[in-house]
Amino acid sequence: MKKVLIAGCAQEISSFNPVECKYEIFHIIQGNEIYDYHLGKNSYIGGAIEEINKSKNIEPVFTYVAEGFAAGTLEHSAFIKIKNEFLEKIKLYVNKIDGIYLTLHGAMGSSKELDPEGLILEEVRKIFGKNIPIVISLDLHGVLTEKMLNNCDGVSSLLTYPHVDFSETGKRAIKFLKKLMLENIKPVAARVKIPAIVRGKELITETGLFGNQTKYAKSLIEDEKVLSAGFFIGNPFTDVPELCSQSYVYTDNNKDLASKNALKMAKDFWPNRKKMQAELINVNDAIKIGSESSATVIFTDAADAPSSGALGDSNAIISEMVSQKYPHTILSTILDSDAANLAFKTGIGSSIKTSVGGKLDNRFKPLILNFKVISINEKPFMPEKWAWLQKPGKSAVLKSNNLTIVVTSNPVLQVDRSIYFENGLDPKNYHSVIVKSPHCEPEFYDDWANKNLNVDAIGATSANLLSLGHKNCQRPIYPLEEDTIFIPEVEQY
Ligand SMILES: [Zn+2]
Repeated sequence: MKKVLIAGCAQEISSFNPVECKYEIFHIIQGNEIYDYHLGKNSYIGGAIEEINKSKNIEPVFTYVAEGFAAGTLEHSAFIKIKNEFLEKIKLYVNKIDGIYLTLHGAMGSSKELDPEGLILEEVRKIFGKNIPIVISLDLHGVLTEKMLNNCDGVSSLLTYPHVDFSETGKRAIKFLKKLMLENIKPVAARVKIPAIVRGKELITETGLFGNQTKYAKSLIEDEKVLSAGFFIGNPFTDVPELCSQSYVYTDNNKDLASKNALKMAKDFWPNRKKMQAELINVNDAIKIGSESSATVIFTDAADAPSSGALGDSNAIISEMVSQKYPHTILSTILDSDAANLAFKTGIGSSIKTSVGGKLDNRFKPLILNFKVISINEKPFMPEKWAWLQKPGKSAVLKSNNLTIVVTSNPVLQVDRSIYFENGLDPKNYHSVIVKSPHCEPEFYDDWANKNLNVDAIGATSANLLSLGHKNCQRPIYPLEEDTIFIPEVEQY
């Protein structure tokens, strides 16, 4: 019986969010708790468990899994603490296991360490030695670095956006690891880096152009001779030296097959880079369109999306709406613990004068208004579709004329409508709704809304990539340099 060590350390950052995130962002589970938590779930480890349970000759050893939400740059001391804790726990299994499966994200970053996953893998390799195979799984928004490739034997990555194949990716990682442990294979990898970062609706793999790459990678994986294949678009908000888009293919000692296919995916991607940028409407034009439209109008504010690593404290759109005397009802959320605490103190039905938003990220200015406190709430809740518990902290529904705002004390996922439903509000009852998400999934808004306006507001996760101010990533890179040239080059590992 071969033993597979299962561990994880994952989080993703927006380098442009001014508030560093702390150790407490991580939800840590250990030992058999990992099995109970992930069994039957659409998660990497859920898929790994399913694959292992199907196999007669391998068994899992659950150790330590730390998972954090998208947020600002990880405080360096927090990274050191989580890394050391992770390594201490898995060190206990030296000489007791035959293979390692690690779930990482690929877009983590601390203030002093711009390749944290690479560093973690280097340490794991040092601890267990080269004879213990390591396979990792990554998000397709990850940045696969040279150090990571040099310190693992296999990679498995998501092939869908919006992500729905967590479990499949975990299964593929275990299948790869099984071959490494049980068969006499010699994995070789080819990857091609592309100097481009991308955003926008063409990245939706079901309907967009980027689906060409993910579908091709899927077809490769079905080939017996291919061990793994995928395509990373990187997280454009994770400003690290190796940020780029890239293709990769692993084969059993067939360098030509790996190179040929990695090159094909990269070459097919490059001509579409221009189309893979977001089409945005400036705030004033959006407000004009909204004013003249019948309900419901969605203002998608990707720039302040907590699911991408922003804080959610932008009032950029509503401030402009208030100053222009927007003629319809408006619904929005804003991160503002001061306003939420004040509402708790004064209570339901009270009148308060407070600023909302714009206190943490100085791209914005506080918006001061008179509000009525409609309701208060501090219950954690589950999103409509995913199993990620949301902890808004003290929250309140505040109303000022035609404006209704849910203020929360912690960032909350806003891809769906759960933050509104949990506070007794239905977006369908408002003319205009601000949705702080990179895109709107049809089932939550687009299927019934009259219009969806992708607004070019400022913010830490703006799809207007030129507005962000990258400092660390390789240059030139498209679209930061419009005339960037791509010379396809295969790297082999
Ligand atoms: Zn992702």
